Amino acid sequence: MKTIRTVKQMQQTVRKLVAQGKTIGLVPTMGFLHDGHLSLVRKARQHADMVVASIFVNPTQFGPREDFSTYPHDERGDLKKLRSADCHIVFIPTTREIYPKGFQTFVNVEKLTQILEGASRPGHFRGVTTVVSKLFNIIRPDVAVFGQKDFQQAAVLRQMTIDLGYPIKFIVAPTVRETDGLAMSSRNKYFSPETRPEAVCLYGGLKKAKAMVKAGERSTAKISRAMTKEILAVCPSAQIDYIAFNDLKTLQSTTKVEPGTICSLAASVHGVRLIDNMKVL
Ligand code: AMP
Repeated sequence: MKTIRTVKQMQQTVRKLVAQGKTIGLVPTMGFLHDGHLSLVRKARQHADMVVASIFVNPTQFGPREDFSTYPHDERGDLKKLRSADCHIVFIPTTREIYPKGFQTFVNVEKLTQILEGASRPGHFRGVTTVVSKLFNIIRPDVAVFGQKDFQQAAVLRQMTIDLGYPIKFIVAPTVRETDGLAMSSRNKYFSPETRPEAVCLYGGLKKAKAMVKAGERSTAKISRAMTKEILAVCPSAQIDYIAFNDLKTLQSTTKVEPGTICSLAASVHGVRLIDNMKVL
């Protein structure tokens, strides 16, 4: 596995691979990797000759009161994990490589970013689309793989891919969970052994929603109320940011569960902001 740290070397490597007729799969990450990230690498391997994973904690997607400066990292551990997943190339640029002095060009998807995470985290998606479009331009992948865990991010990036005409096959891979159901996330590291068990409350809420839908309930207001109860029963101090029901593809909000409805939620559990989602019908 090759580690590349500069844009120039990444571009040269890509040119060589393209000349050899190799297809390229890209998995963008912010590092501190877990099995969710590695599942994306394995998925990319199924669709491309060469897999590039990027590790870049992107400052422009963090708000001023968010955890950019404390975001966990473990480069050595990440490299070991990527090697074990048979990744071919790791791109680890510095902030200056991605944002050269005087940087002032941003990419913004206008509508899909106004709800859910976009409403709670102003400017977040503008940072995400800007960095991913830069990665697309530098690495020129044939395939890019993203996680369902961040389903709105996937929808926004798919829209950007279409709107900017990138010739990239867009793949969204399922959420990988811990054995108790908590969605894997680099931020799970913030929990202590005492608070960690309560982090499963989001998954518990989603399971409740799915069970109610299975039993015939279609009112999102009723389901939301039951989910809130369920979440607070597991973690009484949880602060629920939102519980939302949207169409999986268009992100259109709905008051009645329909085929293709995805339930998503964000909550702060012992000071850690978590998100999760589940298709309920
Ligand atoms: P991050 O490092 O958190 O920016 O995530 C990088 C990529 O991994 C994104 O496409 C995420 O959606 C995806 N990802 C994060 N957590 C999971 C998970 N538990 N299962 C599957 N994909 C994930």
